[in-house]
Amino acid sequence: MKTVATGILEGCFGCHMSLLDLHEEVLDVLGAVKLVYSPVIDTKDFDRADVGILEGAVATDENVETAKKFRDKCDVLIALGTCASYGGIPGMRNLFELDDVLGAVYGDKVPSSGEIPRPLPMVKSLDQVVKVDYYIPGCPPLPNQIKDALVALISGEEPVELTRGKCAQCSRTKKELYVQRREFVTDGIKAVMELDEIDPKKCFLEQGIICMGPVTREGCESKCPTNANMPCRGCWGPTPEAREVGAKMVNSLASILPAGAMMFMEDIVGTGYRYTMAISEVPGRIGR
Ligand code: SF4
Ligand code: SF4
Ligand code: SF4
Repeated sequence: MKTVATGILEGCFGCHMSLLDLHEEVLDVLGAVKLVYSPVIDTKDFDRADVGILEGAVATDENVETAKKFRDKCDVLIALGTCASYGGIPGMRNLFELDDVLGAVYGDKVPSSGEIPRPLPMVKSLDQVVKVDYYIPGCPPLPNQIKDALVALISGEEPVELTRGKCAQCSRTKKELYVQRREFVTDGIKAVMELDEIDPKKCFLEQGIICMGPVTREGCESKCPTNANMPCRGCWGPTPEAREVGAKMVNSLASILPAGAMMFMEDIVGTGYRYTMAISEVPGRIGR
């Protein structure tokens, strides 16, 4: 029976909740493995595990220690979720100096006890600290995605990596998006609330609304555009070709928007790098 250890770095427990969201199916998975260490069971440490799974970004010295411990003790290490895979939302802190962030939270009373984990100057993805064998991106990943990866590893197979862009799974019609043309598809960027009516069947980008689908990895069944009439915000992380997501997205927009209209794209960092700032070149460009 394979042994599995799971742990949390700078995460919100959402990825572990997604594992538990398998409901009774979690018993099938856990029945086929021995859980030797996890926040969902009462263990203090472990010697070795066949598979280690870590949720969350690497944001403190304690996270670095945990990441190294898992790497040393586990034969296979999985980055679970977008924070572990790309830094996720915690990576947005990399836009600011650490002292400014601490000052904004604690004022002039920044706690300094040696018992409190020390924040790193920059938040990192797990693979910026230790070697990662497999990634299960998503914020959080779908329960079945976690199950499929675990079942593959238990059976001695390689988990399947989903690499296509989000648009491949999206049910909205995209008549003009990928067609070579002379005219631009839309004449400007619009906010969702600016429109009286959003065509629920037509691609958001073709309606002038920013959707991160072209640069975002498949895997969530394109839930927001397909099921919720909301554009994608990129929480599954980038496709392998689009790791510098914001730049790649500007590239995608260039073919559908006149250059002048692109100037009105507000908050390009928040839109383009919300989940991937930790793996981006942007902080270096702005002097961080
Ligand atoms: S990927 Fe999302 S759900 Fe998972 S730890 Fe990060 S913020 Fe939470
Ligand atoms: S709505 Fe978004 S995800 Fe769907 S096809 Fe258009 S750009 Fe792609
Ligand atoms: S459609 Fe985009 S924002 Fe919505 S869940 Fe999927 S990846 Fe995340």
